[in-house]
Amino acid sequence: MITLKKIWIWYKHKVTENCTDDLVANTSLVYWQNKLFAASVIYLIPISLITIIPGLYMVYIEDLAGLFVSDIVTITIVLSVAFYSGWEVKTRKILFNGALYLTSTVLLFYLGSFGPGLLYLLAITVFVVLSLGKVYGYIAVGLNTLICAIIGILIYYDYGNFEVIHGYGVDTWIAVSSNLIFLSAVSVYIIPILFDGLQTAIIRENNLRTDLELEEAQLSQTVDKLNEKNQELEQFAYSISHDLKEPLRMVKSFMGLLQKKYGKKLDEKANQYIHFAVDGADRMQLLIDDLLDYSRVGRSGTEKVPVDFNSVLEDVEQNLGALITQHEAEIHIDHTLPEVSVFRQEIIRVFQNLISNGIKFHKPDGKPVIHVNCFDKQTHWQFEIRDNGIGIPEENLNEIFEIFRRLHSGSEYPGTGIGLAITKKIIDRHGGKLWVESEVDVGSSFFFTLKK
Ligand code: ADP
Repeated sequence: MITLKKIWIWYKHKVTENCTDDLVANTSLVYWQNKLFAASVIYLIPISLITIIPGLYMVYIEDLAGLFVSDIVTITIVLSVAFYSGWEVKTRKILFNGALYLTSTVLLFYLGSFGPGLLYLLAITVFVVLSLGKVYGYIAVGLNTLICAIIGILIYYDYGNFEVIHGYGVDTWIAVSSNLIFLSAVSVYIIPILFDGLQTAIIRENNLRTDLELEEAQLSQTVDKLNEKNQELEQFAYSISHDLKEPLRMVKSFMGLLQKKYGKKLDEKANQYIHFAVDGADRMQLLIDDLLDYSRVGRSGTEKVPVDFNSVLEDVEQNLGALITQHEAEIHIDHTLPEVSVFRQEIIRVFQNLISNGIKFHKPDGKPVIHVNCFDKQTHWQFEIRDNGIGIPEENLNEIFEIFRRLHSGSEYPGTGIGLAITKKIIDRHGGKLWVESEVDVGSSFFFTLKK
């Protein structure tokens, strides 16, 4: 069913289609000039159709044939501007403004100072500047001057039988009309300044947005590439460490055979060299295992599941049972721990690494005491594993998270330096952060966050 709403939508669409230009970018001033023009045409037609009825009535009573003709001409032009599809937008604007000029001039003649003629001229000038720009604005000021001059001459010679001719003396007319010309000239001068500013702002904003989009695209490309390279690197580390295991096993077993078969025939130095070689191979085996371990993080392929962290801590205490008993360590869980969606086995490793480090790096003269804390930070949980151990010098606080980075020799404290690197990789993979605060000889606090 054709409703009034449907007609209105079709009408708006049609006028907008004719009075705007799809090829103009919506960031340019012309785009907004066209929009303003289309909106003016859309709303002016129904309003003028309403006002034409009293207008025609007045024309009928007062016998103003000229006004009638101009009304009809104006309406025909405005309707053609709105609906005829063969014109360019600029032509429509010129025709539209021309029609308005015609009406206002005729109104001026017929109704003189009682009518809105002079005000119309000013309004049209403003509209010309808004819809067509500065140059046409100056043409409008010229037209205003011409119209006012013609009326002035008509008044002077008392020619014709119009309201405006009888309503003014030349002096008053010059005073009134020069005000109009002055005001329209000021509008034509001022409005483009505002528009130029707007245009510059629009262009600048647009350029900034384009730059930003470009940078964002580049950044995401770089991140993609980086991720790809990282994966390649991890794959490479995984295969290398995997492939290295076999020759290393061979070196070890042949060294063992060498010692077994020829050990007695070799002198002490040769036996010591064999021992060094086996020891080196053992350490290398450990490092390779750790490297494999590191590159395996995230390969489990399991899904994150809601995990009760109290149960995680129970598992960790069980796994570290021997170490805890050996060092008579105390482990205090200061808060009930929350449930968080994580990869369970990986989070067990995180707690295990941090707590076992807290026990391992205890002061020679004291028993290790570890506190596990959890803080609710609205968007995420922040966990703390605090110990009363040897502490870490400030300058080393960041580097301890690097792979194989140790601050102590293996004879002082056993280990390969992979634990914190793995811990960091796991926390990164969970989208969290890991950091440490520490004071030498007082203890360390390792913090990590997990999204809720
Ligand atoms: P590893 O324990 O095998 O040495 P990690 O990666 O776990 O490897 O730790 C790296 C280094 O960080 C350790 O060698 C040690 O110097 C330092 N470190 C880690 N945790 C602590 C801690 N709780 N207290 C003091 N130093 C620590």
